[in-house]
Amino acid sequence: MNLRSRTAGEAGRLRRMVAEGWVVGARRVLSPNRDSRPPGTEVSLLLLHSISLPRGKYGGDAIERLFTNRLDTSALASFAELAGLRVSSHFLIRRDGELIQFVPVAERAWHAGASRWRARERCNDFSVGVELEGVDDGAFAAAQYASLEALARKLQSTLPLRSIAGHSDVAPGRKTDPGTGFDWARFGAALARAR
Ligand SMILES: [Zn+2]
Repeated sequence: MNLRSRTAGEAGRLRRMVAEGWVVGARRVLSPNRDSRPPGTEVSLLLLHSISLPRGKYGGDAIERLFTNRLDTSALASFAELAGLRVSSHFLIRRDGELIQFVPVAERAWHAGASRWRARERCNDFSVGVELEGVDDGAFAAAQYASLEALARKLQSTLPLRSIAGHSDVAPGRKTDPGTGFDWARFGAALARAR
């Protein structure tokens, strides 16, 4: 969604990517766990999560495998509860800041589950989901904040985003991510500086 470009061909390519909902600079790993948003839905919510597989272990490919239905859930006892799950997120930000996109933002990813934001149910319908590799009681890396801030600015330039929330805000009592270690003030200040 970065429209700065040098050639007409490049500009055309970038416009097509925006139209399809792919963010320039993200590594694409298409997830089958996606479908259409309800017709006419404005994408107004940026929804933040955290995930690590196994919990607290960083850098492996288990999250990518989970989001593409290729995770061997018999490999570890802690994976057993993931058997049969069909989940995804639009984005994953690794500990080193790498941005991976699984679902075009024009489509609905399956990350929020039963959820409600400001009296509106089914947050998947109207949100973009971003997973930060991490745990709900640990800190996140500086590279992740930098990547998240850059992503949020790109999304804000092309989507009518009005709110940013955590999974724990839209599914209180059921979900605790992104967690106590996510620095909302830091993220908010960075976005405000960018305006
Ligand atoms: Zn979550």
